[in-house]
Formats: sequence, structure tokens, C-alpha cells
Amino acid sequence: MASHHKLSTAAIVALVVLICVTAICLFASVLQGDVTYTQSSTASEPSANASGTEQDSSQDAPLDATASPSSAQDHTASDDARAKEFAVDPTRTDSESVTPEQPTVYLTFDDGPSENTESVLAILDRYGIQATFFVTGINPDYLPMIATCHERGHTIGLHTYSHDYATVYASRDAYWSDLNAIGEAVRTQIGYVPCFIRFPGGSSNTISADYTQGIMSELSTEVRDAGYQYFDWDASCGDGAVHTADELLAATQADTSYGYQSIVFLMHDGAGKETTVEALPSIIEYFQSQGYSFAAIDRHTPPAHHGIGN
Ligand SMILES: [Zn+2]
Repeated sequence: MASHHKLSTAAIVALVVLICVTAICLFASVLQGDVTYTQSSTASEPSANASGTEQDSSQDAPLDATASPSSAQDHTASDDARAKEFAVDPTRTDSESVTPEQPTVYLTFDDGPSENTESVLAILDRYGIQATFFVTGINPDYLPMIATCHERGHTIGLHTYSHDYATVYASRDAYWSDLNAIGEAVRTQIGYVPCFIRFPGGSSNTISADYTQGIMSELSTEVRDAGYQYFDWDASCGDGAVHTADELLAATQADTSYGYQSIVFLMHDGAGKETTVEALPSIIEYFQSQGYSFAAIDRHTPPAHHGIGN
């Protein structure tokens, strides 16, 4: 019995020692893991970000330029740098804008994607030009073109999901629910919600007064407080109405004859804008003949704000 008792005591002591050693090892490895994580996330996160949690998790994915673009996971990881720079972030505002040193045109295409977007992309590729697409959700079959535009280096901005003025400007809540809807649709395509937006009709529109008095004054402040940068335009080819390609070129020449250093230029790639596609090469060549180069909108682009009209 006595030797039996001694054996039991030895066994218990051994077990306690084993448990203690295991616990110490586990504690040490957890500590080391925390320290490593903190160091790496601080080093690669220069500024606070609205969606920091999601982006932290994507940092762990390898940056692989050869990854298949069909994989949403790889796509998000490979675009991590643009996501960090362009994702909506309440701590950053359009006060970062600076006039470009060289005369620059920022071509912007509203109301797509549509059946015309692929043709626009082909022309931009042919001239080696980057542009900006302020997108809608009104042609759901074409939403994957948003990812295509982004993959080819163009900037994606939010225009509106429905593009129905009565719906969008019914109230401030209605505006936000429309903006959030197109933001989520874009996130599905490119992995983040971009900070760049263009109000339907621009910030100077007065049609919104038919639905809510003073709404543009309120929204123009609210969107900036929420971290968005809204863009109007300096000039247009006039394709909001129906025109021939020759008329669009003539309108472009008339509207940009003032020698601006920075031109945010309004065009449309929505359904029915075939003459815009037709005029695009001559519009590009006109700007080139005037000494302009082209760039996609980024956080330093002057936002061409209009006077608020409602
Ligand atoms: Zn529009």
C-alpha cells in the first residue's frame, strides 16, 4: 500500500510539473505572437483607416501580381495599395488637392457601366490614358465592368445606384441609402468603397429642390465629414444631351479654350452614348494638341467644385 501511495504521489507531482511547463510555454508563445503582430501592423499602417480591421486581415495575404484576377481574395490583395489610398476615410479630406505642375485633363465618365464602357476602355488603352469612372447600378449586367476598369488602372468613383432624382434626393436618408448601395456594389467588384463621388446633377443641381429644399447644402458638408471627396467638373463635351460626334468635339473646344491648368472633364459612358465613344479619339487628340496630358483622379486632384445651387 505504502509503495503504491508513493507511486501515486510521484505521478501527481510529475503531472503538475508537466501542466506548469505547458502553461508557461503557451503563455510565452502567445506573448511573442502579440508582439510580432503589433510590430508588423504598425510598420505597414502609416495612417488610421476607416476599414482598418478588414484591411489588416488582407495585409497577411501575399502580394502576387500573377494571381488570377478571377479570385476575389487575390484581387483584393493585389490592389491593397490603391485600397489604402482611395478607400473612404473620415480622417482625410479634399483639402489634400494640389494643382498639377503640367497641364492635365482628368477625363471622367458618368452613368456607366453600360454596353459602351468596353469601347471607351479600348480607346483609352490605345492612347495609353488613365481616366475615372463615376459608376451607377442602373445596368446590373455590366457591374463586372467596374472591376475591369479598375484592373486596367482607372479610378472608380461613386455616382449613384438608381440615378433617379426623385429617389436619390427624396431626403438626406434616401441619398445616403443610395450612396451606400452603390458603394457596396463597387466593394463587391474591387474590394473597397472608394472615397471619390459625384452627385447626380453635380453639387450645383437645382432639380433636387423639387424634392428636398436645401439638401445639396447639407449633403456637400455631410459627405466630406464622412470622408468622401465630391467632384464636379470644369468643362464638358456636352454629351448630357444628344449630339453628333462633331458637335461633341466642337463643344469640347469651346468649353476648354480658357487654358486651365487642371481640367476635370465631364463625359458619359452610359447607355445610348455611342456618339461619345465616336468622338472620344478626336477629343483626346484635341487635348494632346493643346499640350495636355491625362491622369486618373486621385486624392490630390482639384475637385472642381461648383457653387451649391440648392
Ligand atoms: Zn449622371
